Amino acid sequence: MRGLVARYNNATVLDGIDLSIERGEIVSLIGPSGSGKSTLLRVISGLLPPREGTVSLAGETINYADRRSLRRSRDKLAIVFQQYNLFGNMNVLRNVMVAPVTIQKRDKKTVEAEARALLDKVGLGDKLTSYPDELSGGQQQRVAIARALCLKPDILLLDEVTSALDPERVGEVLDTVKMLAADNMTLLIVSHEMGFVREVSHRVAFMADGKIQEMGPPAQIFGAPQQPRTQAFVSRIL
Ligand code: ADP
Ligand code: MG
Repeated sequence: MRGLVARYNNATVLDGIDLSIERGEIVSLIGPSGSGKSTLLRVISGLLPPREGTVSLAGETINYADRRSLRRSRDKLAIVFQQYNLFGNMNVLRNVMVAPVTIQKRDKKTVEAEARALLDKVGLGDKLTSYPDELSGGQQQRVAIARALCLKPDILLLDEVTSALDPERVGEVLDTVKMLAADNMTLLIVSHEMGFVREVSHRVAFMADGKIQEMGPPAQIFGAPQQPRTQAFVSRIL
């Protein structure tokens, strides 16, 4: 991302974001509510064209005016939101298979084998024929993560994936994300779970007012923040 500016109406929400993420790297965005974290993920995922600046994914700069360019970029990433948004009329296995089969036009048998393996991996191998409303929030979110992974993204974006969960369900979803981290998945994470962010991230970016105010390894951001605003934020939440 280079020089990204995004506005809603006349309000500037991203005010010059520069950030590059290496393959296999885990970067977390932290910062107060309204600082632009979700907007940044929306821009990266092609849902919101920036007013200025560019986003490149695996070497290709997204052309937001070109549907095919957007399609190619969307094929390279997947995003999981706070609200898991599973399809209520499909069982767990179908939820995971539907986009790879219908949008990516991949072979159904192959996708099914991959979907089963992914659901096993997130600990839901025994829930294939369950429907979303028969699952806990944590289980639904793990299905949403398996669904995202079945798209075979180069990068996975996670926007506060534990914020809607009961406290006792947060750990199982964080453990799932840690497993992806151990597999060297490229991750861009927005989270308020600071212990988790500190443990899993290679770099942490502190955002406020649409800008990255400070970025560095977790030991810096949490242990020795350089900017007064980072210090204030970190001391408030730790
Ligand atoms: P964060 O995820 O860090 O909490 P957001 O990116 O959601 O922040 O929001 C950044 C700012 O943009 C906030 O002031 C928010 O009110 C505003 N905003 C977000 N979405 C919209 C929208 N669809 N229309 C207008 N303003 C929006
Ligand atoms: Mg947000």
